[in-house]
Amino acid sequence: MKHSIFRKSIFLLAACCLCCAAFAIQPIKTLIITGQNNHNWKVSHVAIEQILENSGLFDVDLAISPSAGQDMSGFVLDFKPYLLVVLDYNGDAWPKETNDGFLEFVRNGGGVVIYHAADNAFSNWPAFNQICALGGWENRDENSGPYVYWKDGQLVKDYSAGVGGSHGRQHEYVLNGRDAQHPVMKGLPTRWKHAQDELYDRMRGPGNVKDLLYSAFSEKSTGGSGREEPLVFTVDYGKARIFHLMLGHAGESLENNPAMQCTGFQVLLLRGSEWAATGAVTQAVPDDFPTESTVSLRKNYKK
Ligand SMILES: [Zn+2]
Repeated sequence: MKHSIFRKSIFLLAACCLCCAAFAIQPIKTLIITGQNNHNWKVSHVAIEQILENSGLFDVDLAISPSAGQDMSGFVLDFKPYLLVVLDYNGDAWPKETNDGFLEFVRNGGGVVIYHAADNAFSNWPAFNQICALGGWENRDENSGPYVYWKDGQLVKDYSAGVGGSHGRQHEYVLNGRDAQHPVMKGLPTRWKHAQDELYDRMRGPGNVKDLLYSAFSEKSTGGSGREEPLVFTVDYGKARIFHLMLGHAGESLENNPAMQCTGFQVLLLRGSEWAATGAVTQAVPDDFPTESTVSLRKNYKK
């Protein structure tokens, strides 16, 4: 059987006269790729789909791969209908047609969101690692590129030997804004408290971070690196708009999923997705955004 792609048609204008059409906002055609992950992808891709669709800004299709170890040759994806691809995939290699189609999409300026463990994938695919800028696990080490972290007011590259990718125990932590002017960031607080989540550290890769948006300090007391780690950033890759969001470790169910129920996570996913697809952010800063001392949750994945 072929892979599953679920398409939904939204007839926003069905009951509307033609004169309204010129003023209607077209939802952003989005493809979420999932189906294999060392994470709970059955929860994460539904949460992402709900967050995006509940905003009214996105029209989401799902590409769900065969299970790990199964024949991947039929998992051939057509990227042409989409303005945005959200990667929630960490698994077996895609067929060459899909790799080539994805690279063509990205190199033609397509929008991409790299979500959490998607940056663990494909450690031996150089172009994919350029698209992520930083990744972890899957045998990454000094041969994958430098560590990149925030030190003395700037991002530094550290070529010392060691593993690529780690995290301490899950906990709540404060995000530190590093770029108040980027469209994703305008109006968002410089410091806000994220709900319980992993804090990725010691990631490595080509390191072609374009704009660092948020970092967080990885405390050694929680099993972390003792460094200020880049967690939300854009990637310098030709004319592509790539938004890399390392937050959002999936919980056991949609109901128990604090890292993705965090309002800060959801707002960053929404703003980063719109920016990646269009280059602009039209969303107002919501009044339920977390503060430096108070976590905020949207348990139903909508405001
Ligand atoms: Zn995780």
